[in-house]
Amino acid sequence: MIDQFDLVVIGSGPAGFSAAVRALDYGLHVCIVEAKHLGGAGIMNGALTSKTMYELSMDYAVAARIDRGYRVGALSVDFNEVKKTVIRAAKEKQYQMLSQIETFSPEKSKKGSLSIEYGWAKFKTPNSIEVKNDNSTKEIFAKNFVIATGSRPREYEQLQIDGERIITSDGILDLKEFPERMLIIGSGIIGCEFATIFSNFAQTEVHLLDRSNRVLPYEDDDVSSFVSKNLENNGVLIHHTATLRHIKKHPKHLEVVLDYQDGHSKVIEVDVALVAIGRVPNTESLGLDKLGIQINSNGTIPIKDDCVLHDDTGHCHVYAAGDVTGHTQLYSVAEFQGRLAAEKIGDVPLYPLDYSHMSTLMFFKPEVAAVGANEKMLQQKKIPYKAAFYSNKLVNRAIAMRNTNGFVKILVSNDEEQRILGMRAAGPQASAFIVSVAHLINQGNSLQEVLKIFYPHPSIPEGIQECLRTISNKSIYKKEAFPDLIHIREWLPD
Ligand SMILES: Cc1cc2nc3c(=O)[nH]c(=O)nc-3n(C[C@H](O)[C@H](O)[C@H](O)COP(=O)(O)OP(=O)(O)OC[C@H]3O[C@@H](n4cnc5c(N)ncnc54)[C@H](O)[C@@H]3O)c2cc1C
Repeated sequence: MIDQFDLVVIGSGPAGFSAAVRALDYGLHVCIVEAKHLGGAGIMNGALTSKTMYELSMDYAVAARIDRGYRVGALSVDFNEVKKTVIRAAKEKQYQMLSQIETFSPEKSKKGSLSIEYGWAKFKTPNSIEVKNDNSTKEIFAKNFVIATGSRPREYEQLQIDGERIITSDGILDLKEFPERMLIIGSGIIGCEFATIFSNFAQTEVHLLDRSNRVLPYEDDDVSSFVSKNLENNGVLIHHTATLRHIKKHPKHLEVVLDYQDGHSKVIEVDVALVAIGRVPNTESLGLDKLGIQINSNGTIPIKDDCVLHDDTGHCHVYAAGDVTGHTQLYSVAEFQGRLAAEKIGDVPLYPLDYSHMSTLMFFKPEVAAVGANEKMLQQKKIPYKAAFYSNKLVNRAIAMRNTNGFVKILVSNDEEQRILGMRAAGPQASAFIVSVAHLINQGNSLQEVLKIFYPHPSIPEGIQECLRTISNKSIYKKEAFPDLIHIREWLPD
């Protein structure tokens, strides 16, 4: 039994688990405390389960295609089997995590160890937490703490989540069957992902509620319009400029009243409403008052660059990582922050985090990937740029795949250097090749340097090469010949 750990990590999501494992690398004795699912939203009711469901739905959509010379007879899908497959994927990962925890359990491992306690953690003193579950309450002491309690779905005011007809992303796997009709409230990434998944399976009439003119309001208009158009082509009914006024529950359906910006209202009937309007940090009932922490007005925990809590708490042995910190809510960000906190505890951080070059993947049909700046960001910062757009319709590999719906859009600085500032890509494999552009941005590479690289043929990333060549008018295919498929714009501050 260890009576004082070197580190207690509260939460076993990507932030907590990575902090625990990196601390083990430094020979520390670590206890992970988890209230619910091992792996947090990184695994269950979140990144892994939604991506498994997405992959299954994409396979189904491919099997349902009839425009490429073959067709599958009697294609059908069973929601319960889909659910079983999704849960099997989540468990596979959870058992890998557990295997690692058991491999380094204190009984076996002398140089550093991993333990896990299930229950709700709450600070009792600045150096101890109380862990409470159905059977017991115990106090655990540690020299250091990482708060990695993540986030939960934001609820819609005046709308009671009942877990059956009115659900959040946490309730998807509790559905008993494909809803015949579903309203998704919120057109951010999670809302659009579930709209893609349910429309791919083609068993559900999907309504997507979008408060503005375009889904994904923070993305450039051309990217948002592309995503909107694809959702509509997939059968999703998007209610642009509409807000939810009221949902009336009937025994067998929901009656939904929508108000549109132009003044008219519409009443529709659905079976399930999915609330996807963002996530709020889990900072309540954690006993943060025992640390004297002032949380931000949106509930997030303020941290410094190395993830230690902000100076004025005086507790430099307490760190926070992941969704709870208010940085972009992504698996990779949580994992990096968790690792950084452990590196700081164990020794010195290996390198500082640079949040400006994060890659984001959006699991739509087709997938969309983003890295670095977009046009809106550069215009806000008054940074002059050139934006080049190159359609996958001109990329041989996409033509061979019979899958040309996609593009590459690259932004470079509008100066002599022509540094790569950002990219948005859509289409097959976009999620795989975005990393190559992240490297280019990270290394501050200029257009001229990048153009020396050989791209293998036939490959989807050849679109990147041609897109970049377009900027210096060296492309094989010219914008004059394909004005719809290749274009360039230049932006200068007034
Ligand atoms: C539907 C969905 C899809 C997503 N898809 C992607 C994606 O494709 N790519 C991507 O990068 N990101 C995705 N995300 C976001 C990603 O899952 C989160 O950013 C990431 O999981 C955050 O990690 P975390 O460790 O901060 O918190 P979490 O993963 O939320 O883990 C926190 C853990 O802390 C536990 N906990 C909370 N309070 C306590 C307490 N007091 N005591 C003990 N334990 C506690 C919780 O039970 C939870 O297990 C998705 C999220 C959702 C909801």
